[in-house]
Parts: sequence; C-alpha cells; structure tokens
Amino acid sequence: RVKAGGRDGFTWFDEVLHQQTVQRVETELELRRGLTAGDGLVLHYQPAFELGPHPGVAHVEALARWSGPGPGLVPPAAFIPVAEESGLIVALGAQVVARAVEQIARWSDRPGVRVWVNVSPRQLALPGLADLLARRLDEAGVAADRLGIEVTEQAMDDSRLVAHLEAVRRLGVAVAIDDFGTGYSSLSRLAQAPVDVIKVDRSFVTATGTPKGRAVVDGIVRLAHSIGAHVIAEGIETPEQLDAITGVGADAATGFLLARPEPAESVSWESRFPLSWR
Ligand code: C2E
Ligand code: MG
Ligand code: MG
Ligand code: MG
Repeated sequence: RVKAGGRDGFTWFDEVLHQQTVQRVETELELRRGLTAGDGLVLHYQPAFELGPHPGVAHVEALARWSGPGPGLVPPAAFIPVAEESGLIVALGAQVVARAVEQIARWSDRPGVRVWVNVSPRQLALPGLADLLARRLDEAGVAADRLGIEVTEQAMDDSRLVAHLEAVRRLGVAVAIDDFGTGYSSLSRLAQAPVDVIKVDRSFVTATGTPKGRAVVDGIVRLAHSIGAHVIAEGIETPEQLDAITGVGADAATGFLLARPEPAESVSWESRFPLSWR
C-alpha cells in the first residue's frame, strides 16, 4: 500500500516497516496477556527413537505453541523472537519449564523418558535458572534425571553461561546442544563443554543425500562420541536419511518420518516408520 504523495521508493518501505512494528507490538501485548492469564502457552511433544540395540523412546522434546485469539496454534517462529526482544522470554521460559515438569509427573508410567525443554540464551544468562529448575522439580516430585535443557552452541563460548550449565548439570538435569553444527562455536571449547547430548541439525541430515554430506555427519557423530555425548539426529523426513544416520552411528533419531510433535495425550511411543537395528 503506497500512500499518495509520499517520496517514491521510501513510502512502501515505511509502510512495511510500520506493519511489522504493529505486528510485533500486537504479538507482545498478546504474549503479556496470555502469560498473565495462563491460557496462551501450549506445549507439544516430539519423541526421539533410539537406534541401538535397546529401541524405544528415551527422549521427548517439549515445543512451545501459542493459543491466541485467532484460529489454530501459532508456531514458535512467530512469537519466540518477540518474546526474546521484549524480555518476556524469561516469564515464558519459566512457564515452559513448569508445564513440562508437570507433564513429566503425569508420565510416571514412562520412567526411562527424559523430557527436554528449549532454553533461550537470554533465559540462560540469568543466574537463577538452576534454582528455578530445582524448585519446579521439587514441587512436582520429579527426579532431575527426567529433565533436560537444550541450548544453542554459542552458550559454550561464554564462560558465564558455561558456569550456569554446570550448575544445571550438578542438579542432575542434562544439557543438550541444539542445532549442532550451525553456530560456529569453537571446537577447542567443545572438549570441556558441560554437555550430555548433541542434536545434529536438520540441515546436516538433509545433506546426507550426497557422499560429502554423509562424510560430514559421520565426522560430527565421531566428534560428539569422542567427548562422550549421546547423538540425536534431528529432522528425519525420509527412509534414506534414517538409513544414512543409522549408518554413521547416531544413537537416536527424531523427525516427521518417525513422529510429529503432538499434545501430551497423543504422543506416539511407537515410530510411524519401522525401525530396525543393524
Ligand atoms: P528446535 O528446538 O530445533 O526444534 C525442532 C523443530 O523442528 C521444531 O519446530 C519441530 O517441529 C521441527 N521438526 C521436527 N521434525 C522435523 C522434520 O522432520 N522436518 C522439519 N522440517 N521440521 C521438523 P518448531 O516446533 O516450529 O520449533 C522451532 C524452534 O522454536 C525450535 O527449534 C526452538 O528453537 C524454538 N522453540 C520451540 N519451543 C521453544 C521454547 O519453549 N523455548 C524456546 N526458547 N524456544 C523454543
Ligand atoms: Mg530443540
Ligand atoms: Mg533443534
Ligand atoms: Mg533446529
């Protein structure tokens, strides 16, 4: 929408920027409202399947969605960045933790499963994360080894964040590096990193269609194993990708081929695709 009489070239751009600002402010207001009312956040859960000799689900990732005034659920890409910029991610993240821990308590019939929550850099930067986790676990009567947090690899390059991760691990809560391989973290720090699980980013899984792509994933899996981490390959969409990541020795796999993120009651504990251990 170009306003008549505006300076050519700039008006359209101004309009788009204006629309984006309005959208961001509206999202922020809606987040604030829903976080206070407690009716905005919804968690879906996506399982990861073990590929070794003990098949089954050992990991489930909690993924945030937003139930706003419009129809359907809003995906995280549409509100997590706004929550980050506005600082609301701290309150949102605390609700994610509380909900996930309550869900773990309800999954007491699945004692071998660890539930993972995504933690943003801003949330990790606050000193109180380990205390928050400890309190929520205690209140819900949930053992720390049923919970894990996923952080991006940049966290490993910041000594303050590493100290916070160490505090989290001392509780018995596990730490995963999410989207591994996309963040250019320094490999020299990886050896000391307080990490239990490495999640290989979907872009590397997609690249397994070529020999070079497979070689790269093979290298990542070896690197992860050399520091004692368990490897989960993310975003498996085809049987060929599953074959490729099984072939390089990934420990577990997740992706739409196997199971989609679902509300807690609908989580599929069996893969939609037959898994065989070779
Ligand atoms: P992520 O942590 O890497 O989560 C994996 C994303 O990949 C999820 O998208 C999931 O639905 C999607 N996915 C899983 N399998 C497949 C597949 O086979 N193919 C494709 N194309 N995608 C697949 P989702 O739920 O939209 O979440 C996007 C991102 O939003 C997450 O990426 C995470 O970075 C962020 N996020 C989600 N929930 C939270 C949260 O509670 N807190 C924070 N801070 N970030 C969150
Ligand atoms: Mg994640
Ligand atoms: Mg990921
Ligand atoms: Mg990802």
